Amino acid sequence: MTDEFKKSAANLRKAVPLMIKNHVAATPANYALWYTYVDKTMPELNMELDRVLENYETCPPAVHKQLYNNYVASKAETSLEELKTNVEVLLGELTSSMNDTISDTSSFSDMVDKSFSKLEKVEDNSLSIEEVMSVIRQLVAESREIRHSTKFLNSQLTNASEEISRLKSQLAEVQKDALFDGLSKLYNRRAFDSDLNALIESNQNMSLVMLDIDHFKAFNDNYGHLFGDTVIKGIARRLQQSCRDGICAYRFGGEEFALIVPNKSLRIARQYADTLRRMIEKLHVTDKRSGTQVQSVTASFGVAEYEIGDTLETLINKADKQLYEAKQLGRNRVMPV
Ligand code: GH3
Ligand code: MG
Ligand code: MG
Repeated sequence: MTDEFKKSAANLRKAVPLMIKNHVAATPANYALWYTYVDKTMPELNMELDRVLENYETCPPAVHKQLYNNYVASKAETSLEELKTNVEVLLGELTSSMNDTISDTSSFSDMVDKSFSKLEKVEDNSLSIEEVMSVIRQLVAESREIRHSTKFLNSQLTNASEEISRLKSQLAEVQKDALFDGLSKLYNRRAFDSDLNALIESNQNMSLVMLDIDHFKAFNDNYGHLFGDTVIKGIARRLQQSCRDGICAYRFGGEEFALIVPNKSLRIARQYADTLRRMIEKLHVTDKRSGTQVQSVTASFGVAEYEIGDTLETLINKADKQLYEAKQLGRNRVMPV
C-alpha cells in the first residue's frame, strides 16, 4: 500500500464512526465531506461543521449538501480528485471491514491484495475510473463466493457497489459541470477553447464576438458584488436567448463574454453584436433587496472574422484588439465600425 492509500484508510477509520455517530447517510458526497473533515485540509469547513454539530447535534442533509457544495465540490477539478479519493476511501473501507470480519479466507485476502496493487495505478493516472470500477466489480463478484462466511460483509459490499454506481453518475455530472459556468449558466472558458479549436481545425467560416461590461468595477463598488452577479446573470440570460443559427455564447471570464458566430462574415457578425449592445443598453436591473433600479449597464464589443492561418490565440487577439479600441473610443460601442 502506498502512503496515500494508508492515509485514505486511516482517515476513513476516523470518518466512519463520526458519520455513524452523527447519523450521516453513507453516500459518496458524505464520505468526501467527512473525509475532508478528518483530513483537516480545510479549517473553514471544520469550523463550520463543528458549529453545525453544536447547534443541531447532527448534520441535517440540506446543510450537508451545502457544505459539500461549498467546500468539496466547489471546483470541477477538485470534484474529480475527490471522486478518486472516494473510490480509494471505499476500497479502504472494504479492506478494513474484510480484515475485521474475515480471518480464515487467505485466497480472498490474496485477491484483495491483487486488487489493491492494480488500484495503486490510480495515483499515476494510468488507470481510468472505468478500470477502477471494473476492479471493484470483480472484488464484489468474487467476494460473493464467501457469502456464507459473513452476511454483514455482504451487505457492506452491496452498499459499496451501489455507491460505486452513484459515483459513476456523479462522475458524469462532474464532467458535464466542467463545461458550464455556475453563475451565468453559460458554457465556460474551457468549453469555448475546445469549441473554437475544433472549428479552427475544420477551417469553419465564422466570426468571433467578444464583449466586456463597461465600468463594472465601479458598479460593484456602488451596488455591491452580489448585485454585480445579478447583472452578469441577466446579461448572460439575454445572450443565451439571442443564440440562434448555431451561435453559441460563453462566459469568457469575469465580466467578459464571447460568442462564436458560425458562417457569418464580419459585417453580419458586427450587426448582430450591435443588436446585443442595444439590448444590454435597454436592460433594467433591479436589486430585489434595496429596490434600486439600475439602467445604465452597457458593454463594449470587439468583432473579428476567422481567416485561414488564424489560431485560437490570433483570433482572440484580433477580437480583443477591437474591444480595446471600443473602450478607448468611449465604450458602449461595437468595433470595427
Ligand atoms: P472597463 O469599462 O474598462 O471594462 O472597466 P471595468 O471596471 O469593467 O474593468 P475592470 O477590468 O477594471 O474590472 C472588472 C471588474 O469585474 C473587476 C471585478 O471585480 C469584476 N468582476 C469580475 N468577475 C465578477 C463576478 O463574477 N461578479 C462580480 N460581481 N464582479 C466581477
Ligand atoms: Mg474586463
Ligand atoms: Mg469591464
